[in-house]
Amino acid sequence: MDFLAEASRIEPEIIKTRRILHQHPELAYHEDRTAKLVSDMLESMGIDVKRGVGGTGVLGVLKGARPGRVVALRADMDGLPVQELSDVDFKSKVDGVMHACGHDTHMAMLLGAARILSESKDGLCGTVKFLFQPAEEHGGRGGAMPMIEAGVMKDPRVDYVFGLHIDSTRKSGEIGVREGAMMAAPDTFKVKIVGRGGHGSAPHETIDPIYVAAHVILALQGVSSRMINPVRPFVISVGAVHSGTKENIIPDVAMLEGTIRTLDEATRKRAKQRVEAVAKGVCKTFGAIAEVEFETDAYPVTVNDPEATKKAVEVLRKIPGIRIKTIEPVLGGEDFSRFLQKAPGTFYFLGTDNPAKGCTYPNHSSKFKVDEDVLKFGTASLAMLAYEFGNPKGPA
Ligand SMILES: [Zn+2]
Ligand SMILES: [Zn+2]
Repeated sequence: MDFLAEASRIEPEIIKTRRILHQHPELAYHEDRTAKLVSDMLESMGIDVKRGVGGTGVLGVLKGARPGRVVALRADMDGLPVQELSDVDFKSKVDGVMHACGHDTHMAMLLGAARILSESKDGLCGTVKFLFQPAEEHGGRGGAMPMIEAGVMKDPRVDYVFGLHIDSTRKSGEIGVREGAMMAAPDTFKVKIVGRGGHGSAPHETIDPIYVAAHVILALQGVSSRMINPVRPFVISVGAVHSGTKENIIPDVAMLEGTIRTLDEATRKRAKQRVEAVAKGVCKTFGAIAEVEFETDAYPVTVNDPEATKKAVEVLRKIPGIRIKTIEPVLGGEDFSRFLQKAPGTFYFLGTDNPAKGCTYPNHSSKFKVDEDVLKFGTASLAMLAYEFGNPKGPA
């Protein structure tokens, strides 16, 4: 079957769906209208739909006419708190909310794949589960965990899981793949520095938490340069500093908030220990007290199963007009990591960088703009992975 031809045939519908979703973005855990649109469309294709799965999540189940494996395909549904400034004529109609990460395109491509697969049910082996998850951008508990807890990876048990992300850093039509760790565990931390306030003219009678905070910020960079094996990727960034009210008042407290990114559990564990020890040690040096807190349920590392990825690449190579590239890991986090903990599979990037069409702004930018010509490639790729991996004699 020529999946790209099928995707090209329904391309106008894919783009239309994407634009409707784009005009009505919803923030994490509030994807009600979005979930309804997705559910109604799946039902219109004759796919069994479960609504309200782990909150606003949607599960679609399509049984092929032949026996085979269970393959899950996932799209995320949430938008971002961004005021859209792109030049498209289907701009967000919701003030201050935008599909600036392209999750609208993920849903449109997955709905396109659902259409193709539902129309080729007679030749389809096994079962395809369509996972539309909430709250990918939320972090922490996110949307995958509630859906997994609601049982989407069981009954029948998922054998393989696949998902993609539209990617502004890659040329249009390029697919980025990687075996093993591909995206980071994004651990958030807070350091509360408790000093003792007083008059700005008499610092010797205080414990100045702002001065201490400056030392902590500098010392934390030493964790990456001096305490973590340099061949293991690790980054630490302090993204928020809060303290003080007026120039001549030394406050009691300073707050730091930051993120650390790692690609393996051992480094992750060590990095967290070192961050805590350094922050506490520096504070102690100056007589302040550090209270260090890590977010307890940060996303894990996104680890692509090497075998499944190899086989997926063989499948994706059959799509004419795309280029497949093995990529370096990136230190962003992904809620898809949680599905990969339950079943082998792979997460891959679909490039959308196209200067000729003004599609050059990064994901999360207020001017983020997708090259819609790539949607047919993404649609075909998802349909093919489900079709081929579902076949007991297929690539798996
Ligand atoms: Zn994002
Ligand atoms: Zn995203």
